[in-house]
Amino acid sequence: MSKVPFHKPCIGKEEISEVTKVLESGWLTMGPKTVEFEEEFSKYMNVENAISINSCTSALHLSVRAMGVREGDEIIIPAINFASSFEVLLYERATPVVVDVDKKTGNIDVLKMEKAINKKTKGMILVHYGGCPCDMDQIIDLAKDKGLFIIEDSAHALPAYYKKRKAGTMGEIGCFSFYATKTLATGEGGMAVTDNEEYADRIRITRLHGISKDAWKRYSDKGTWHYDIKELGYKYNMTDIQAALGLVQLKKLEWMWERRKEIARRYIKAFKGLPQLYTQHIPEDRETSWHLFPILIEIESMKIGRNEFINILKERGIGTSVHFIPLYRHSYFKKFIKNSIKEYWNSEWFYEREISLPIYPTMENDEQDYVIENILDICKIWKK
Ligand SMILES: *Cc1c(COP(=O)(O)O)cnc(C)c1O
Repeated sequence: MSKVPFHKPCIGKEEISEVTKVLESGWLTMGPKTVEFEEEFSKYMNVENAISINSCTSALHLSVRAMGVREGDEIIIPAINFASSFEVLLYERATPVVVDVDKKTGNIDVLKMEKAINKKTKGMILVHYGGCPCDMDQIIDLAKDKGLFIIEDSAHALPAYYKKRKAGTMGEIGCFSFYATKTLATGEGGMAVTDNEEYADRIRITRLHGISKDAWKRYSDKGTWHYDIKELGYKYNMTDIQAALGLVQLKKLEWMWERRKEIARRYIKAFKGLPQLYTQHIPEDRETSWHLFPILIEIESMKIGRNEFINILKERGIGTSVHFIPLYRHSYFKKFIKNSIKEYWNSEWFYEREISLPIYPTMENDEQDYVIENILDICKIWKK
C-alpha cells in the first residue's frame, strides 16, 4: 500500500468532455450552462430559487446582505466552524456571537444559543457539522419565538436530511460550497437556495455588481448594451466552465453519497467497541452526507495526544485533517470575541480530540482497510 491521501476528487471522462464543450462553445463565463445548473440544482433541492455564486463564502456574504444585517447586529454562529461566516459578518460590521457546540455531534448547542440571544440578535448562521444536520425543530421554534432569521451554511450537507427535510431548505437561505474537497466539486463555486423571491432577487442582483437580473445576456445576441447599477454589488458570479462540471457532478451526487455511506459503515463497524476513540453521533432522525468522517480520540486512555496521532498516520502515508480550529483560537478573530475561552469547554474538548479521516467515493476498500489497520495498531501500541 502506497499512500492514502485525505482527499481525491471524483472527476471522470464526462466532466472533462462537458468542460471541453464549454471551452469550444465560445462562451466561458456565466451563461446558458450556469442557468441550466441553477435549474437542475433547484429541482434537486425542491426549492423555488437556486442562485449560483463563485463560492459558499460569497453566498453567505450575499445572504447576510439579503437579510438586511447592519452594523452592530449580533449574529449567532458555532465555534467549531470555518472562517467564512465570521468574516462575512465583519464585512458588514456586524458582531459574530460565537457559541459552544455539542460534544457528540459537533453542532451548535441550542441551550447555549438561547442564552446568547439578546435585543441586538438578528439571526444565526448554522453549520451542519460534517453533514449531520443541527437540532432543527428546536432551533426553528427558538428562531420563530425570538424573530430571528436562519441562514444554513450547508457547505458540508449535500445531501443531508433532518426528518426527511433537506439540509439547506429549512431556514431563510441555504448556502452550499462546491470547493474542490466538497461532496459536489467544481474547483471553486457555491449556490444559495431560497423559496423567498425577494431574497433571491437581492442575491441575483448583488452577485454581479448590482446590475439588473439578466445582465450577463448583454454580451449575447439576446442582450442590449444598456444596464443600470441598482445597488452596491460584488463580482461573485459563477462561470459556465464551473457549471458544466457541476451539472455532471450533480448527476453523480446520489451515487457518490451511497459510496461514502458504505465507507462510513465500514469505519463504524471497524471501530465499534474500541475504547480509544468515538465516532460522530448521528441522531436517528437525521441522515448525514458523510462529507467528513470525524473521529474523537479518547486521549485519557492514550499515551499520545491528537497531534501525535496525526503525525504517526502521516508517517505511515495516511492523510487526515482537523475540522476545525475553533474560531476563538484565531489571532485575528480573538479581538472580536468577548467571552473567555472557558465558555467554550465543549469546543475545546472536541478540538483536542478530533481527526477527520479520508472518505471519498474513489477510495478503494483496500485503501480504507489500510487506514483502519493503522488506526487500530496505533490505538493498541499507545494505549495506557
Ligand atoms: C468549505 C466551507 C466553507 C467555504 O466554502 P467556499 O466555497 O470555499 O467559500 C464555508 N463553511 C464551511 C463549514 C465549510 O466547510
